[in-house]
Amino acid sequence: MTNSGAKTMSCKNCGIDMYKDGHCDACGWRIGWMPVAQSSDGTSTFVMEPRHKFQAVAVLLVTVIGAIAFIVGVSGNGVAGIFLGPLMIIAGIVAWKKTRLGKVWQGLPSEDKWAALPGLLAGGAIAIMIIPITIIIFAVFSMLPRWDQL
Ligand SMILES: [Zn+2]
Repeated sequence: MTNSGAKTMSCKNCGIDMYKDGHCDACGWRIGWMPVAQSSDGTSTFVMEPRHKFQAVAVLLVTVIGAIAFIVGVSGNGVAGIFLGPLMIIAGIVAWKKTRLGKVWQGLPSEDKWAALPGLLAGGAIAIMIIPITIIIFAVFSMLPRWDQL
């Protein structure tokens, strides 16, 4: 495994090579930021991407439901959970890390979007199947804005 800190990508703002975990040397862009203005001297102004709440809910759900499925499976009530549970947990954790729980998406390199996709799709399907619970989680999100800092 290579050190993730050494992975490079093209800056989404100006196109030069940069480290994924750092910021662009030329314009200052980093993953999770969107350019809002460009001045004549070439410097850009950025704002944070808005949190993608549905993604965050989907990632949470696939991780939690995966854990529940595994526990239920181990307790003998559904063998499928022993296999599906860990897969869901892994997909959820990968999506969690890649999107930083819904904080970054537009600026992500496509390979990171693909890596996050299984967790997002599985979580999205779960979120739609259990809409009342999804609404409650959304409500908790809006009541706890500081939770963003996690
Ligand atoms: Zn740049």
